[in-house]
Amino acid sequence: MKYVGAHVSATGGVFNAPLNAKELGAKAFALFTKNQKRWDAKPFDNKTLDLWFKNLEESGIEPKHILPHDSYLINLGHPEEEKLIKSREAFIDEMQRCEILGLDRLNFHPGSHLQKFSKRAEDYDDLIYSAELQCLEVIAESINIALDKTSGVTAVIENTAGQGTNLGYKFEHLAYIIDKIEDKSRVGVCIDTCHMFTAGYDIRTREAYDKTWNDFDKIVGREFLKGMHINDSKPPLGSRVDRHHSLGEGEIGWDAFKFIMNDERMDDIPLVLETIDESIWAQEIENMYKLVEK
Ligand SMILES: [Zn+2]
Ligand SMILES: [Zn+2]
Repeated sequence: MKYVGAHVSATGGVFNAPLNAKELGAKAFALFTKNQKRWDAKPFDNKTLDLWFKNLEESGIEPKHILPHDSYLINLGHPEEEKLIKSREAFIDEMQRCEILGLDRLNFHPGSHLQKFSKRAEDYDDLIYSAELQCLEVIAESINIALDKTSGVTAVIENTAGQGTNLGYKFEHLAYIIDKIEDKSRVGVCIDTCHMFTAGYDIRTREAYDKTWNDFDKIVGREFLKGMHINDSKPPLGSRVDRHHSLGEGEIGWDAFKFIMNDERMDDIPLVLETIDESIWAQEIENMYKLVEK
């Protein structure tokens, strides 16, 4: 069974998100539990929580089909001490907010090395690799710290397009981080189809799709797949540029989404649209369900 939805607005309060999802006919959704462009946030008051649980029940959507996304300001692999500490504190706060809302997973972008790690060229074959590796180690440590300070919430690492110095654009990056996580029952990944495609993983034909996901199974492990972002892509394969498009309008095309809707790996996890035209989300969700082969 597939659970498709969209990253809905939580403007006015988190309690509006389940209602916004319901209006779209969604069976899953994503949300920001605080303003994603700010560091600080007020703790939830009782009225907010009461409304959240009431509206959530009304929506009929289960917590495991909700994929909250953390703030864009957080960089768990920050090369500078002070900013790393700030990011780690903010991330723990986001995990705790999920816990309070009764949610079991938090989606985040792994981090960026910003070309600022001390490069130990002698240790590695190439300089970029050394900065990437050091950053991946810091990210893993950040996740371990957050898991240690929270309970019940899985840290869900999102693959990226690999723009700038963002890490997570290779399956090997995700696997490297997971390998260093002490509690493997509380780490997972979210695969964004646009990011996957622009990072160089083709999913447009049956053959390419199978190869990409078999590689995923081998390198990362399908048991770690805890959600997906369903987006078409404006830029072409391997461009390493992150620009989403409406389904069927971009470089990926409908076939890939049809493969997903008929792939048991994607059963029972949130499949969340982050496509560019929210006025057609309800239609896009309906179109996704039409792809299921009986
Ligand atoms: Zn995404
Ligand atoms: Zn994106």
